[in-house]
Amino acid sequence: MSFFVIQVAVPVPLRRQFDYLPLNDDGLKRPEHYPAGIRVRVTFGNQLLTGLVLGTSTETDVPRDKLKPVEAVLDSHALIDAQTLTLGQWLANYYHHSIGEVLELMIPTMLRQGCDLSEANERVWVRNPKAPTGQADTLRGKRQQALWYLFESQPDWPHSRLTTQGFSLKQLQQLEQRQLIAETSQLPRPPLSTHSAEQRQSPLPLNTQQQTALDGMAVTLGDFQTHLLEGVTGSGKTEVYLQLIEQALERRPDGQILVLVPEIGLTPQTVQRFRRRFEMPVALLHSGLNDRERLQAWRQCREQQVGILIGTRSAVFTPLPNLCLIILDEEHDASFKQQDGLRYSARDFALVRARHAQVPVVLGSATPSLETLHNALTGRYQHWQLTQRAGGARPPGMKLHNILHQPLTNGLAQPVLAAIQQHLQQGQQVLVFINRRGYAPLMACQDCGWMAECRRCDARMTIHQSPPHLHCHHCDFQQGIPGFCPECHSSRIQPVGHGTERVQQTLMELFPDVPVTRVDRDTVRTKQAFDQLLEEIHGSDARILIGTQMLAKGHHFPKVTLVVVLDADVGLFSADFRGMEHTAQLILQVAGRAGREQKPGDVWIQTLYADHPQLNLLIDNGYHALALALLQERQQQQLPPYSHMVLLRAESTERHQAEKCLRESRSFLQQLQEHWRRNAKKQRQKPLEPLNLMGPFPAIMERRAGRFRHQLQLYCHDRRSLHAVLDPLVDFLQQRPDSRKVRWHLDVDPMDTL
Ligand code: ADP
Ligand code: ZN
Ligand code: ZN
Repeated sequence: MSFFVIQVAVPVPLRRQFDYLPLNDDGLKRPEHYPAGIRVRVTFGNQLLTGLVLGTSTETDVPRDKLKPVEAVLDSHALIDAQTLTLGQWLANYYHHSIGEVLELMIPTMLRQGCDLSEANERVWVRNPKAPTGQADTLRGKRQQALWYLFESQPDWPHSRLTTQGFSLKQLQQLEQRQLIAETSQLPRPPLSTHSAEQRQSPLPLNTQQQTALDGMAVTLGDFQTHLLEGVTGSGKTEVYLQLIEQALERRPDGQILVLVPEIGLTPQTVQRFRRRFEMPVALLHSGLNDRERLQAWRQCREQQVGILIGTRSAVFTPLPNLCLIILDEEHDASFKQQDGLRYSARDFALVRARHAQVPVVLGSATPSLETLHNALTGRYQHWQLTQRAGGARPPGMKLHNILHQPLTNGLAQPVLAAIQQHLQQGQQVLVFINRRGYAPLMACQDCGWMAECRRCDARMTIHQSPPHLHCHHCDFQQGIPGFCPECHSSRIQPVGHGTERVQQTLMELFPDVPVTRVDRDTVRTKQAFDQLLEEIHGSDARILIGTQMLAKGHHFPKVTLVVVLDADVGLFSADFRGMEHTAQLILQVAGRAGREQKPGDVWIQTLYADHPQLNLLIDNGYHALALALLQERQQQQLPPYSHMVLLRAESTERHQAEKCLRESRSFLQQLQEHWRRNAKKQRQKPLEPLNLMGPFPAIMERRAGRFRHQLQLYCHDRRSLHAVLDPLVDFLQQRPDSRKVRWHLDVDPMDTL
């Protein structure tokens, strides 16, 4: 038997594949027993891990006596296809991450753990195809007959659905004994829409802008093309998506469509809109599912039982063999970027995937990110704009309310309170947005100026009242509220500022007859609880809603006619270069909650900086105008999207270690570039573009959870030149003698520099 090794992607941080020998089993001795994409169990150090086979080779760098055989082969057929493997390789290269960890992330947890695909199956009863119809009369008892009628209407029934309908195992076994039905296990089919033909919603007649966008996007079906659908909230973007999907399915009836939405946007309302339009099975993938449900949805997609998959970030990895269209709604949303481990952008990866599959991808937003807008303005993406609200709804009237030197009632200005009163009296709902949970952001001594700070972070403790405690939102450290100032023993220690709890308390006192609902991570802990709360809000009349950005994103509140933004100022002077962009997106998103149906809405923004030029530009001329101004600033400063960026973040428990690591990294990069420049000159090649290195800087909050954090910023116009240094940089970092004292990671195309 000729020698060969199996190349395995093992889920460890090292960025390489590992070679193993075949199993000591005569039945599994040939390379074809190890196709790419199957799982194997391997020993790694003293652990037993599940890896994925990438291929086989007759060559290896490892001395033969060091090679170990795989311990077990878990699949006979590829679990993930060649396309997924290629895409995984792309991710590993682009984000400079270990291929083993990337592929592990791309498959459902249960498969990672080594479970069999059949774990997704459920117990099902199927009608014997040979059983004659019209058997009911021969059956004893009404229940037996009722049960059999079910099988006459549909040949297979999950056991669980029959038991919830009150049938017993014994009744089923009686039919089984008569060979009318048999028990098996199979992958449950995704539920079909339960809407009847009459309930089904037919497409709305589009307005001119919608029609132009739809037609323009539809002609690209069957090819790779990126579209930006920039449409103000309520302009009917979703209607355009739905009609585009319809066309995609007309072209290709077995086609599959991937719809990606922000974590917070995946509400029953959204899903309903799809289910009411299409007869085909719609599957969902979001964080509220358990591992088995995820595996089921994953398999249903892979086995082409699903026509439309709606999911959050990681759904972008789901195998869809007949993918024909990708839609990514709210493309600017930060939740599309993973903030730990493999720091990938689902938006950017969706484009790579679309190109690979040769299908169009639609990025939709009322407030597109500057990157995407730039790509649209320079012609790389096709750009479609919807500037009017659809169906005659009017845009909200936005105004800044100057609170400088104005008396406030617990953070709320008099005219704002009067407006709230007025809207409530008309039976309407009011949404108060304050992006800070808790009672107050600060506890301070009125006599000596002491402030309650976190022991482990450079941050202040937030006061919470229900239940009363001090809480650090950065490291989760909690403690009781002291009765006296620890510095001067004064009892005059007080909360300063406002959070959602305090605003709620104030409004409950001021409007005792109106229900006040608070929506933040403390009141709404699960997705189910949130969905339930939304139901309640929709069903009720006059009401005040107070919430953080949980409330601001994606939901329709038809009865809200007034939106009050309390703390817009926080974002105006952010230390991060995307601060203003994100603030504007958030303000407009909250504002978009107002007056979505026939009633016009008002938006009041309380601010101390009523003459802030960019804030005024936003209010007077809209997001697009502000975005153009911000793009100009970025161009002047040569920041993304006018350059590419990578952050090297490092943290250590010892004060100077992280900074030292980054200083050394900086010199390493300088030397490396110098070396390459000289070589290129010698060989008369075009040199790589020089990088712009900034830092190391301490992070804005230098100490968090007891660790000192620093960052080094790498910029370059040329993406290739920037990425060329990253592999050597990672090698350098992994080999540094002090590497154990420092935790570091690369963030390619970071969302922020905080
Ligand atoms: P967006 O996704 O841009 O926020 P939606 O698609 O949710 O907007 O549309 C907002 C509202 O306008 C919805 O109630 C929708 O049914 C309605 N709508 C959309 N397009 C039209 C149209 N062409 N004619 C009438 N109503 C429409
Ligand atoms: Zn004091
Ligand atoms: Zn802390």
